[in-house]
Amino acid sequence: MAFRRNMLKSAVRCFSQTDTLSMVRHFSCTNHKGVSYKLVVVGGGSGGCATAAKFCRELGKGQVAVIEPSETHAYQPIWTLVGAGLKTLEQSLRPMSKVLPSECDWIKDSAVKFDPKNNYVETASGKKIEYEYLVVATGLQLNYDKVKGLTEALRSDPQVCSNYHAQYVTKTFPALEAVEGGNAIFTFPNTPIKCAGAPQKIMYLAEEIFRNRGKRDKTNVIFNTSLPVIFGVKKYAESLQHVIKERNIKVNYRHNLVEVKPDKREAVFQLLDSEKGETKTFEYSFLHATPPMSAPDVVRSSPLVNADGWVDVNKQTLQHNKFPNVFSIGDCSSLPTSKTAAAVAAQSGVLKNNLTAVMKGGDLSRSYDGYTSCPLITGKDKCILAEFDYDAQPLETFPVDQGKERWSMYQMKAQVMPELYWNVMTKGLWQGPAIFRKLMHLGMGR
Ligand SMILES: Cc1cc2nc3c(=O)[nH]c(=O)nc-3n(C[C@H](O)[C@H](O)[C@H](O)COP(=O)(O)OP(=O)(O)OC[C@H]3O[C@@H](n4cnc5c(N)ncnc54)[C@H](O)[C@@H]3O)c2cc1C
Repeated sequence: MAFRRNMLKSAVRCFSQTDTLSMVRHFSCTNHKGVSYKLVVVGGGSGGCATAAKFCRELGKGQVAVIEPSETHAYQPIWTLVGAGLKTLEQSLRPMSKVLPSECDWIKDSAVKFDPKNNYVETASGKKIEYEYLVVATGLQLNYDKVKGLTEALRSDPQVCSNYHAQYVTKTFPALEAVEGGNAIFTFPNTPIKCAGAPQKIMYLAEEIFRNRGKRDKTNVIFNTSLPVIFGVKKYAESLQHVIKERNIKVNYRHNLVEVKPDKREAVFQLLDSEKGETKTFEYSFLHATPPMSAPDVVRSSPLVNADGWVDVNKQTLQHNKFPNVFSIGDCSSLPTSKTAAAVAAQSGVLKNNLTAVMKGGDLSRSYDGYTSCPLITGKDKCILAEFDYDAQPLETFPVDQGKERWSMYQMKAQVMPELYWNVMTKGLWQGPAIFRKLMHLGMGR
């Protein structure tokens, strides 16, 4: 019990952005060469952990360091289910020490400076960590403070929540249960985000909760999205439009949340297509906010990024476009695909192959096709399993129409994927379902 309580506290602390860089860390590197490694991985989340595990096996003890400040590793994809009261936050968390490979040196610290010309990373405690090869896997920064009043609303109003943060995801289910009517509003910001399906998945689960509680007639379910479409892949967008119509959900496109006034329970949206910069104010009885996101400030201010602030890598090889001994994986990279753990899995195989080739002076022979996946949960036992590539073309694993809501795909998301994550992916043994797709579609092309 005490362990679980401590882990929760530590997760909430570690995911608190204001705390992230200022926490006191200790330096735990014991490499015989001092603070120089063959490979340094910055970030021990989905991408960093999978990468470190793969290379520790190959390079051996003391050759790989992971710079990661958090005591806790989170499997974020089940936070949607935590928000709907179907899983607990504890189920998404494990101690970082148990998830990172035991052969790596865990430097429990934050990277505060990247110097790719001189091959070192500096940490918050002032250590210089030198490397021969670097993998940047810092994930995304959640910019709640870019929306006026939102942080205050998340702290003070029990009806404002956000599944994107360990501290706020546990507010969602109690808030849903407290809804008696009015406007239940779900937002999608005007930036790239991780798991672009998550802002609407919680809406479908919420709609079902309101119905089961007999509150649906008095509650307007509203999706205010900055995007001009419900989903970027035509096939799944059509399926979702059907769900939206059937369940009487109101979608307002090109509406971007810019202010929350918790004292009046009002949310202000910028109308992105308005030439006059107009806004529209909605009253809310429940507000699920998805914050604007970016690569972390330390990455954005480094020489590693492109003009849009993402680590500038080749979209096929994952190698940095200017620094050949640097690679990036996951959400902080410039890879133009939907940012998900499923994409990270597919990228990890390509990265392993191509970085090994660079280390051995060989050719970068593996190419990433942009594979990503988004299990679009539409109810507590229904899911549309979207899988697609860089061209927004479906790249489905199973020989059934995945555009349909299915019980089996829900089980895949809720039961199978977490096990796969903890037991296979974090150990560097999962590279996405390409091989199964090929087997299941034998003789049918992709
Ligand atoms: C609500 C929600 C639902 C989601 N649903 C799905 C889903 O259904 N399917 C799916 O595939 N994906 C889903 N995702 C997305 C998925 O969790 C991410 O895409 C994935 O975790 C990205 O992996 P990453 O390694 O790039 O970043 P993360 O896993 O976020 O890891 C980044 C790590 O870097 C560390 N870090 C940050 N800054 C520094 C620094 N300066 N120095 C050192 N370390 C640093 C962080 O502490 C963190 O541990 C969801 C995410 C959320 C929040």
